[in-house]
Amino acid sequence: MTDTKKTNVVVVGAGAVGAMALWQLSKQPDLEVVGIEQYGRVHSHGSYAGESRVFRTAVHEGGSYVPMIQRSRELWRTLEKESGREIYREVGCLSIAPEGFPDLLVAMRTIEDFELPHRMLSNEELRKEYPQHLVSDEDIAVFDEQGGGLRPEVAIMSALELAEANGAKLHFNTTVLEIESRSSGVIVRTTQGTVHADRVVIASGSWSTRLMPELQDLLRIQVIGLTWLLPRNPALYAPERFPAFLRDVGDVHFFGAPSFDGYAFKACTNPKWPVYRDVEGVPTSHSREELIRIGQRAVELFDGVSPEPVRESVHHCAYTPDRLPVVDRSADERIITVTGLSGHGFKFAPALGEYAAQLAAGLTPDIDERFSLASRLQALNTLGPYQGGGH
Ligand SMILES: Cc1cc2nc3c(=O)[nH]c(=O)nc-3n(C[C@H](O)[C@H](O)[C@H](O)COP(=O)(O)OP(=O)(O)OC[C@H]3O[C@@H](n4cnc5c(N)ncnc54)[C@H](O)[C@@H]3O)c2cc1C
Repeated sequence: MTDTKKTNVVVVGAGAVGAMALWQLSKQPDLEVVGIEQYGRVHSHGSYAGESRVFRTAVHEGGSYVPMIQRSRELWRTLEKESGREIYREVGCLSIAPEGFPDLLVAMRTIEDFELPHRMLSNEELRKEYPQHLVSDEDIAVFDEQGGGLRPEVAIMSALELAEANGAKLHFNTTVLEIESRSSGVIVRTTQGTVHADRVVIASGSWSTRLMPELQDLLRIQVIGLTWLLPRNPALYAPERFPAFLRDVGDVHFFGAPSFDGYAFKACTNPKWPVYRDVEGVPTSHSREELIRIGQRAVELFDGVSPEPVRESVHHCAYTPDRLPVVDRSADERIITVTGLSGHGFKFAPALGEYAAQLAAGLTPDIDERFSLASRLQALNTLGPYQGGGH
């Protein structure tokens, strides 16, 4: 006799990973899929918020990320096709730094190992082709041709709509308070009642330690601020002329994206904010002094910009010490956890969402074993302090 009962999978959090997992899970006809999000549909509190995210294939983190990023690139294109929306502007990504800068060397090694489409720009070429960047004589650049800018809010809205169209049930303004695994299934207690599930995907980002105290030693909440600057000639900073970028000048790291709104472009560098254990108490805006400093720095690095950031916002993200994510399934195979995207994980959220969906469906995808919780906790003993940065 065939058992026709569908497996019920609950996804906690409809942010970057949760939305992508819901989209993938909803494609599997033998699953009943439920998403639970503490805020509304596509909100401003998640680590994904803030108009754009840098996408790079020539990653500074080294080659082990490249297959995951290439799979994500395919999935970003699939999401665009299925939703009919533009999500990924492949305008390229410039990494600018003095010749020999360590992150640049890793990016170049990754390019060589994976034969990634790219261009090396000498100081002269950089000045000629991208006069928007005011560079010093030591600076060179690597142009990652498959890099660019992602539209995070549009991506999440699209994935959630597609999941719903495929039959997933989404509950907003509902907080998951507790998850209890029993031999018969998982009990998910929320502010709006209790849900019984066969499997649960925890994709709760910066809030993960609240549901999984075992992550408390591993995850730290780091603050990341965003600022937008007003150029006198916006056309120079339009996506057609101005790629996404990472810039290292001494110990100052800038990252940003072209103007998507038509009047300002994103250029951000982060003050030295403390590291937090919980989102409670994390700053929600820059101070006046911080904005003045960022503006002054920007004027030195970008041509024709006003020193006053015209928009700003402050966000947070859950970090592991070496910035590798956690992707794991509990011993009873009922609870799947994906978290710790460490300030650079939006670009590969579709691949992580796909892993989560495969694990929830009982499959065993080929995942980097360093992402397991046991390996992450073990690494705690050998790793140095938490690194900031990202993108
Ligand atoms: C300012 C900033 C800039 C960044 N820039 C880049 C970049 O350029 N490129 C890049 O690749 N990455 C970048 N990142 C990193 C990337 O955006 C994040 O790593 C990614 O969004 C994290 O995804 P997530 O799904 O883990 O968390 P989120 O996207 O925050 O999603 C978690 C969701 O879970 C919900 N939730 C939490 N707890 C509960 C609960 N108990 N019940 C119900 N719902 C719950 C939250 O409300 C949220 O919606 C940046 C991050 C920040 C903050």
